[in-house]
Amino acid sequence: MRNESLNPHLSDALPDELAGFRPTTTPETSRHAEGTLIDKYGRHITYIRLSITDRCDFRCTYCMAEDMEFLPREQVLSLEECLRIVRTFVGMGVTKVRITGGEPLVRRNALWLMEQIAVLEGMKELVITTNGSQLDRYAVPLMNAGVKRINISLDTLKPERFKAITRIGDLDKVLRGIEATRTAGFTRTKLNTVMMRSINDDEFIDLVRYATERDLNISFIEEMPLGDVGRGRGNTYFSSAEALKLLAGSFELQPTAESTGGPARYWRVQGSDSRVGFISPHSHNFCDTCNRVRITAQGELYPCLGQNDAMSLMPLLRENTTDEPLREAIVRSMGIKPKEHNFTEQLDAPKVVRFMSMTGG
Ligand code: SAM
Ligand code: SF4
Repeated sequence: MRNESLNPHLSDALPDELAGFRPTTTPETSRHAEGTLIDKYGRHITYIRLSITDRCDFRCTYCMAEDMEFLPREQVLSLEECLRIVRTFVGMGVTKVRITGGEPLVRRNALWLMEQIAVLEGMKELVITTNGSQLDRYAVPLMNAGVKRINISLDTLKPERFKAITRIGDLDKVLRGIEATRTAGFTRTKLNTVMMRSINDDEFIDLVRYATERDLNISFIEEMPLGDVGRGRGNTYFSSAEALKLLAGSFELQPTAESTGGPARYWRVQGSDSRVGFISPHSHNFCDTCNRVRITAQGELYPCLGQNDAMSLMPLLRENTTDEPLREAIVRSMGIKPKEHNFTEQLDAPKVVRFMSMTGG
């Protein structure tokens, strides 16, 4: 039994030898999970984010450099390797998986992987994050594959601005994709908007209106210093607190304790079913309730988005036919999950050298 006095406020770390994996003592009451992954600060890890490609059909200015070099194919996990990783985590108590990238829907046969993950014993929530460019044709197949919810990035409703931010993207296609998810029957779809001063801050109100008119949720994200994107980020930084103040001038916002298990804090927009969330890595540290780890398309397990510690899973997959070494590495990774990400408002130098498209959002 976990000692509940080890509360998740992280004042005390567990001794290293206690971080890892707790087998369930009463398997008959836990039909799925064989146990629970617990890090050394007592946080239960039940959620993985898996990047299935570092490639993308956009080049968003906050995410990628203009001349990105992508990984050679042999250095990217095969879809079968992705499935081995997910199956192993789910066997250790993980119940939620987010497929991300890069742009996950540009990976060939991504749907096959999602179908396999959705039916794993113990899986509760398969979700994806996408830029929306392929959703007009994939919304129905994603629903059929067992995907429960979709997050779609949308930073602007102006076509020219959209092209400038994404360097390539076609806004119309993304808007058609959003409509396609609604027609396909997806609910609780969430828009993700990265806040950038003097770039899209004049549209936050319009974006919330767009969301409420379609029963969508929307999260505003503080830009994070991930990767050298060829420009400083300090001048365009826009905080959640300022955005909340701005939106409160146009909408009646009621704080809610609701959570989707992620780092966002939510406000309900009165008169609609929509929620406005704020992901505030700089101004509001959410690490004490962190329940996730990330796996890159290269098979690197990152216990924290904002730190450089990682464990390489690919050789364990390629050199072993059994999954036991992988399982052992996952248990060891619980010992290197840091207490917090340490992002500060010093944004001009990248805090972490990896681009967001490498680690997956
Ligand atoms: N391509 C998909 C998309 O854009 O939704 C999935 C991957 S993308 C890396 C995931 C999320 O990360 C997106 O919502 C994107 O806006 C966000 N993101 C990328 N770079 C970021 C940064 N430097 N700071 C904050 N959010 C970022
Ligand atoms: Fe591609 Fe998403 Fe990064 Fe934009 S944020 S470049 S869509 S991975």
